[in-house]
Amino acid sequence: MLHTPFQAPRAAALLILPLLAGATACWLHFAPPIKTADELRLRMELPAELGPYDSQVLLHCQNDPCRRSFPVSSETALKECPACGGLLSPIARSERDLLPADTRIARRLYHMPGGQSYTVTIVLAGADPRSIHRPQQCLPAQGYAIERQHAETLSLTPRRNLTLAVIDSRRGSDPSARFGFAYWFVGPHLETHSHYVRLFWTTYDHLFRNKVSRWAYVAIAASEPLNTPESLERLASLLRLLMPAIELPARSPS
Ligand SMILES: [Zn+2]
Repeated sequence: MLHTPFQAPRAAALLILPLLAGATACWLHFAPPIKTADELRLRMELPAELGPYDSQVLLHCQNDPCRRSFPVSSETALKECPACGGLLSPIARSERDLLPADTRIARRLYHMPGGQSYTVTIVLAGADPRSIHRPQQCLPAQGYAIERQHAETLSLTPRRNLTLAVIDSRRGSDPSARFGFAYWFVGPHLETHSHYVRLFWTTYDHLFRNKVSRWAYVAIAASEPLNTPESLERLASLLRLLMPAIELPARSPS
């Protein structure tokens, strides 16, 4: 016997969608101008001194055909690109082309002598939330294959856990060229490793608080895959030093 599917929810959705769209259009028309919230919970500066780690900044050539990057001790260590004489900037040319102008980026490379390297990037989104790109889209676009994605909770202090999204990735077809990528988001209300939680709160703030919240995106590229308790513990050791240096005390939401 043929079964006729129950159509009521679909019909209801078809009715509700134009209503919702109408309500949103109406709201957008009459809403007061949106304010940019400036609650920052992270410093947009990464420490040069960090326990036993050596640290360097990356300067990127802005000259389109060159686009080389140079690890140096400070942002003023090089005046111009040693390869082509082009202008240097801590922001890569590809990022500058892609990101809205009010996006802020801090980046530093930390290297444990005789051990692993970690490139830490903090991206602070501007009024336009497109500043934050999903690494699941960016990594494949740059030639990295995603092997595994998982969430990991690291214990930083007895009272402070941090949950990160972790991606184990491989560059090209070389199975030895593997590395780890970890990230999380820091918003005015909370920190989360989930894009969906961040998008929920961005929409909530927009609709109910009339604010564009500035989210920070913290990403760490590690020179080893983050797929063993030992590699995760090495990352936790870095974060135990890094977090107190970059976190600002939370303020109560207004
Ligand atoms: Zn150059």
